[in-house]
Amino acid sequence: MAGPADRTRRFIASVEGDPHQVDGIITGMAATEVELVADVLDPPTEIAVALTAILLLRLEDAAPHLFLAVPSTRSVKLPLLGEHDLYDELADAHQGFESVERFHRGPAPNPDLRLVFGAGAAPGLHVRSAGWACSLDADLPAIAGNPVAAAFAGVLAAAEALEVGMHRAGSRARLGSYRGAVSLWDYTLAPVVGATITAPVDLSGFGIVGCGGVGSATAWTLGLISLLGDPLVVDHDIIDKEGTNLNRHLTATFQNIGDPKATLLAGFLSAAGASPRPRIREWKELSDAEKLEVRTGVISVDDAEVRRAFQLDMPKVILNAATSDTGYFRVTYHDFLNAACLRCITPSGTLLGGQLATTARRLGISTGLLNDMISANVPLSEEVVDSLRLEDREQVRGVRGAELVATVCARLQPLPDEPAVSAPMLSAAPGVLLASEAIKRSMGYNVPLSPVGNVLSASVLKGPHRAWLSTIHKRPACECLDTLYRQYYAKKWA
Ligand SMILES: [Zn+2]
Repeated sequence: MAGPADRTRRFIASVEGDPHQVDGIITGMAATEVELVADVLDPPTEIAVALTAILLLRLEDAAPHLFLAVPSTRSVKLPLLGEHDLYDELADAHQGFESVERFHRGPAPNPDLRLVFGAGAAPGLHVRSAGWACSLDADLPAIAGNPVAAAFAGVLAAAEALEVGMHRAGSRARLGSYRGAVSLWDYTLAPVVGATITAPVDLSGFGIVGCGGVGSATAWTLGLISLLGDPLVVDHDIIDKEGTNLNRHLTATFQNIGDPKATLLAGFLSAAGASPRPRIREWKELSDAEKLEVRTGVISVDDAEVRRAFQLDMPKVILNAATSDTGYFRVTYHDFLNAACLRCITPSGTLLGGQLATTARRLGISTGLLNDMISANVPLSEEVVDSLRLEDREQVRGVRGAELVATVCARLQPLPDEPAVSAPMLSAAPGVLLASEAIKRSMGYNVPLSPVGNVLSASVLKGPHRAWLSTIHKRPACECLDTLYRQYYAKKWA
């Protein structure tokens, strides 16, 4: 009975730092009025408007009163939506979300935020794209945005609406409104339009590992471009019965409860012309032949051990994305020989910090409380014990602070589905950026993330910033400094 509201509530709780504030913040957010305006629905405008609306509707109980004031003439086929009036299609695709009850056609009576998409001159915050550049309230060259920049403009606009809602609701989270241009061509904060996307984009040799919130936003974006090739699409999981995935899985609606995530993601790619091969299993269960063929890995799983194992299967290049509980996201590039490999930046489970966090999450308490219990060497309270699964209670009852981490790690099975903390725009931001990297890499453009700037990181609550591109170097003692591994990689991709 958790539904699509659950994970976003956890995100709000995490950024507020106080679970007792959540209900008040969400009530305030739901009272916000956001108006999306466009004079004309050309393809980039329509893509940006649609993605903004989708991300805001998926906020569910935290969604604003959303007003859509756009023409009825459509110009582009969008994933999951039919070809008729945009309002009708969006409302239809989100049947089952309570946020649809606050979704209105036409202008808002008293908007807290008016987002003006495309060339329109109406007063409000202007959302634009040009080539690979997009902007909030900044001028861009007078050329059409490509679908990737248009999608990212939609993410920026939705993030702005999230912040306006939180601010209006009295949030104490640190918010920082982004204004200006950003180029997905070279990640400068300048209106650099870059080269034209010459479709079709060939995804042969790609392996998309993880079809969750981030991966599905990658597919939503790729699905706007004509595609070729037969990428592997790997995820063992299904859209959960409780519907908690629906806040960020842009590949799924309430109709898709119980459907395999890999199949849904592959569906977006095949609708755009590719011949994806969905694999409803874990990466490690793929055949050696399949693992060996992946030249470009696009990975967005939150399991550290899977990421570490994936690196040692030696794709030529790995594009990786992750989100944090507090709104940060990052997209990283790895080629094993240069700068940090994926293992360098993925701590193994033996690190105490990781164990502490895992243990706390497994017990449903904060890391701070667990820390206190370890320091004071006291056992878990009866209340915490009673909240555990029946078979787990006797394992930990009476176990004192210092022993607790070892006991939990050794005796308690990991929960089948540890609650993710997420928000629609938080997973969409790195998802769109992964698509940006995948497209540039497939087309051979020499401006993507690279060893000299292998990390892109920002907060969805603050937006891009001057130093969002940075470099992470190798970690001493990582396998990527080992001669045998290096020789294997070099020989494989010679
Ligand atoms: Zn390494």
